[in-house]
Amino acid sequence: MPLDTLVELVNGWGVEPRRAGARSVVPPLADHVGRAGVPASVADVLTDSELIQFADTVFGIFASGGTAARVAAISGLLTRIDVRPDLTLEDGDVRRRWWADADDALLAAALLALRAQLSDEDPARLGVCVDGGCADIYIDVSPAGRRRFCSVTCQNRARAARYRRTRRSAP
Ligand SMILES: [Zn+2]
Repeated sequence: MPLDTLVELVNGWGVEPRRAGARSVVPPLADHVGRAGVPASVADVLTDSELIQFADTVFGIFASGGTAARVAAISGLLTRIDVRPDLTLEDGDVRRRWWADADDALLAAALLALRAQLSDEDPARLGVCVDGGCADIYIDVSPAGRRRFCSVTCQNRARAARYRRTRRSAP
């Protein structure tokens, strides 16, 4: 699963991101699940309630504090689902694939993407937006790796709030 799709799914369906952002409706399902990297047979029958459950599970990984907790969460979830590595030959090319039970395919796709992110990249780059009115998750791909907000919108809102606070407290 592409990481930007993972982030969209969690922020679109997750209970906590929607509560914090005051978003009562979820996005159109078909637009998003098509990019989730699961077979069409799985994507076509996904329901909003299944996606909410999925989003809340993955949100829990982002919300757990620190790399050790996230690694434990991902490892724990991987042991509970039916997924195995696979190898295929497609048009003469050897490809790394994985197989998952249909019920577990979406979560498996997300866990394998996060497993790669944590092991191959800086594991500290997962986060939940620190803005008070937002709980959207993000994966920091900036060169500096010091991101704390989900978006420029939240960053600017926090900056404006801080500016107002300092002006108020000035003599
Ligand atoms: Zn935010």
